[in-house]
Amino acid sequence: MATKKRTTRPFEARESKIQGRGVFATRKIEEGTRLIEYRGELVDDDEADRRYPFYDDERHHTFLFRLESGDAIDAGPSRSIAKYINHSCDPNCEAVEEDGHIYIDAIRDIARGEELAYDYNYVLDERHTAANKRLYPCNCGVRKCRGTILAKKR
Ligand SMILES: [Zn+2]
Repeated sequence: MATKKRTTRPFEARESKIQGRGVFATRKIEEGTRLIEYRGELVDDDEADRRYPFYDDERHHTFLFRLESGDAIDAGPSRSIAKYINHSCDPNCEAVEEDGHIYIDAIRDIARGEELAYDYNYVLDERHTAANKRLYPCNCGVRKCRGTILAKKR
């Protein structure tokens, strides 16, 4: 029996209940699988602010991923679907930084049809006040949802 070689990615972007578009497994994905690189343009802090100006009391949504260096990857202009992977407070993926690149890895087995998500653990320069948390709401819907995509600050 001939076996068809699977070369396509095991996930696709489509509408999500969490927010906008999401990325969903199209077949079973094993724990530990490196799924995709979060590709985009490397921008510094000033350029990131210029691209995504912050307006008071408005929900803030960006395609920025902050690197340890302080610079960020802006996936806005990128055609990669990595930018559509939503946040979850009980995620099945994690974002890993290696040599200035961000990769999304599966941290448990993922069933076909499941939405991929990782914890954004978003960190602001300012305090994570209740008001700030409302500007970065979470709709992941899991039981232990913390209500915001902001990280817990210690
Ligand atoms: Zn949540």
